[in-house]
Amino acid sequence: MNILVINCGSSSLKFDLLTMPEGIERASGHVERIGAVTALGTFQAGEGKPMRESFDAGDHGAALDFLLQQLRDHPDIEDDGNVEAVGHRVVHGGEQFAESVLIDDEVIDAIKDAFDLAPLHNPANLKGIRAAQKAFPDVPHVAVFDTAFHQSLKPEAYLYALPNRMYRRHKMRRYGFHGTSYAYVSRRLYELAGLDPEASKVIISHLGNGCSIAAIRNGRSVDTSMGMTPLAGLVMGTRCGDIDPSLIFDIVDKEEMTLAEVHALLNRYSGLLGLSGYAGDMRDLLDEASKGDARCQQAVDVFCYQIKRYLGMYIAALNGCDAIAFTAGIGTYSDVIRAQVCTDLDGLGIELDAERNRSANGTEANISKDDSSVQVWVIPTNEELVIAQDAMKLAHATKQSPYA
Ligand code: ADP
Repeated sequence: MNILVINCGSSSLKFDLLTMPEGIERASGHVERIGAVTALGTFQAGEGKPMRESFDAGDHGAALDFLLQQLRDHPDIEDDGNVEAVGHRVVHGGEQFAESVLIDDEVIDAIKDAFDLAPLHNPANLKGIRAAQKAFPDVPHVAVFDTAFHQSLKPEAYLYALPNRMYRRHKMRRYGFHGTSYAYVSRRLYELAGLDPEASKVIISHLGNGCSIAAIRNGRSVDTSMGMTPLAGLVMGTRCGDIDPSLIFDIVDKEEMTLAEVHALLNRYSGLLGLSGYAGDMRDLLDEASKGDARCQQAVDVFCYQIKRYLGMYIAALNGCDAIAFTAGIGTYSDVIRAQVCTDLDGLGIELDAERNRSANGTEANISKDDSSVQVWVIPTNEELVIAQDAMKLAHATKQSPYA
């Protein structure tokens, strides 16, 4: 079965065509700068050479049309890819979705209801859904939510200590994100580390441009660092992570900024970029730090220490830990960061093997010493595969349903 996976940002659209259940990627494409004077499209089928082209993409529909045209024109793709279902990444599912769902009018309304909770993401996700429904009106469309995996959090983990009406009226609470990544990496971790999913305590840290960490007991998320929005928790490329909320009032006052400017400051100009004054990209920072730049090194130090702090918190939340996994760009490729995070954690039973850690980059690997009581793994994530698997499952279910 061929599944198209679509992931839309406010000015970008990414797609992957996968043959399921094998999970073989047949084609992938990406359009950036949708709505700008010229958009940039890239497309690749199988092992073929990637193509790049500038073109006019006024909206997400035009971006998708461009990629579908590449698919149709490609000599290695027969039947226009024969798309049998479409899986959509949707960032915020609010409290309504603890799992993936077939998209109907009610689901669309619920995605709109969550616009307030994710104003940068959900409107873009909906644009992708509309464009794909137009292009593929006769196949099932499935929404896979970043928040769904964390709907198992208990009130003590998801409530903020604000007047309770804020939660009742406005659904202000911790939701958590990167759920599809946690779903994939946790399943791989159980297999690789030989753990029983129903009797396991694991901590996974997703370290990309956005960064988060989650405590997972018996296959269910019990705590995670992002909050009502993806701004909270760990230090990220440009997002500040946890800060004292009083700082917002001080910044407004002392820097004479509007609330909209503070919002941009915390989301786009803080994190690694803000701390270093140089870059939000970890590779650039590590390069400069290795040449002796003290501020870049300090940004790296704050980044690693914040992860260590959360590890301690989550080992307490789980009352122990069988295994830890690092994933996403930084977690998968940076032995330096993994080593720094795990330094001096032998008191908690975490001991890295320096050589295993160094040679693990980009691959699934156990990087802990044989006698480390907590196993530590590197596991590259695969969110597209989870989206395609859920889309396949729900598409099969519609075929069997007498109401379809
Ligand atoms: P996104 O969240 O956009 O999917 P990625 O998961 O690709 O991002 O992660 C991007 C981050 O990974 C960037 O900070 C980048 O510098 C970092 N990264 C990628 N490769 C390396 C590497 N070899 N060493 C250190 N950091 C890396």
